[in-house]
Amino acid sequence: MSNDARRAIPKMDVLLAHPWLVEQVETWGRPVVVTAARRVLEYARLDIGDGHELPSLDDLAQTVAKAIEALRAGRLTSVINATGVVLHTNLGRAPLSAAARAAIEDAAGYSTVEFDLQTGQRGKRGTAVRALVCELTGAPAALVVNNAAAAILLALSGLAKDREVIVSRGQLIEIGGEFRIPSVMEAAGVTLVEVGTTNRTHLSDYRSAITDRTAMLMVVHPSNYRIEGFTAQPPLSSLVELAREHGIPLLHDIGSGLLHGSMGDEPTLEDSLQAGVDLAVFSGDKLLGGPQAGIIVGRADLVTQLSRHPIARAVRIDKLNLAAMEATLLSHLKGRLDDLPVWRALKLTPEDIRPRAETLAALFGSAARLRRGVSVVGGGSLPGEGLPSVLVDIDPAPISEAVAMARLRTADPPVIARTEKGRVVVDLRTVPPEQDQLLGEILLAMLKASDNPT
Ligand SMILES: *Cc1c(COP(=O)(O)O)cnc(C)c1O
Repeated sequence: MSNDARRAIPKMDVLLAHPWLVEQVETWGRPVVVTAARRVLEYARLDIGDGHELPSLDDLAQTVAKAIEALRAGRLTSVINATGVVLHTNLGRAPLSAAARAAIEDAAGYSTVEFDLQTGQRGKRGTAVRALVCELTGAPAALVVNNAAAAILLALSGLAKDREVIVSRGQLIEIGGEFRIPSVMEAAGVTLVEVGTTNRTHLSDYRSAITDRTAMLMVVHPSNYRIEGFTAQPPLSSLVELAREHGIPLLHDIGSGLLHGSMGDEPTLEDSLQAGVDLAVFSGDKLLGGPQAGIIVGRADLVTQLSRHPIARAVRIDKLNLAAMEATLLSHLKGRLDDLPVWRALKLTPEDIRPRAETLAALFGSAARLRRGVSVVGGGSLPGEGLPSVLVDIDPAPISEAVAMARLRTADPPVIARTEKGRVVVDLRTVPPEQDQLLGEILLAMLKASDNPT
């Protein structure tokens, strides 16, 4: 009997002729669909052997389509970020400006990455971007690498290998993933010397830890957490003075790359350079609003030394990010922060957001309400603080919030939102206004269609 049932399993051709799979073939090509279909048919054969019933042709086609969708789900997919977290680490941090995207497109083919058009000779990678960083920041020299973690590894290994670097205990942070200051020191071959306590470190702590084995002082901005209450850290300028007295450099990891101005407690590069640090390091894809990159600025002799280190070659920036970084720096130089999506989002006031939120909420009638709330800067910037916003708070009943969120994640494009107390919470700060309507349509379709399969 099971042999008969097995014989009833549709042939590959028949399955592939199912309209759902014809569509999949159009999207993904025949080999992908055939591979998935072969596996599904094989499982059906095994199931029947175990005494299960033969699935219908529709069931089989749906299983194949789902297997292919799962493949798609693992790939990079552009999403609507309705969380209000501006620098969302899991969603690629800074969205790029139109100019940066165009620059990437331009650089993607053959481009003058290491070619000097004037002389026809080999050029140096990143010459223009280094000049732009210097012009923008007033720093004497600059180097741009793959990310800030790489920049720190390079600086530690290049300037302090086999020697000691002094850091305050309150600054031994974990940025995320495997990036912890003590581990990076170890990876760089540097001996970490911790001074002070978690909440209080004094200049004298640094002073008494300096020996002839000391290569450097390091100051790390504890970007993603905050110590409050009975705290003390010596001012940067007095640490700079101490380092100078002993003829050793001071490295400042400022994290989020706020160039100047003021934003909560965020350190600015301008203040850091004014205090006289020898080297400062920051990320390209946080408050700078550019692509993933790590930027080192400071003393020309040290920057040159680092640029010649073998690790510099291993962590160099690729041509696409180089192109996007040039475009981003140009926007800063022209004073056109509004060109950068990060800054457009950061500058929105509740008054800017409210009319958009009202239009969105109106789609849901009594199931939605507006309320005041806060958007998060993210990327380790401004911990414990937020930007006032107007949130759209939607009751997903009769479906649960978990089902609603799952449906939003499988929409095209996927929508990532927040939930709070069983409700779906949308913060339009991180949604480009031109996507408001599309977002409304997706939310309506996903939340209202109660027979919509998830
Ligand atoms: C984010 C951050 C880093 C790591 O930067 P990446 O560019 O992600 O490598 C290092 N230090 C501080 C203080 C940070 O905030």
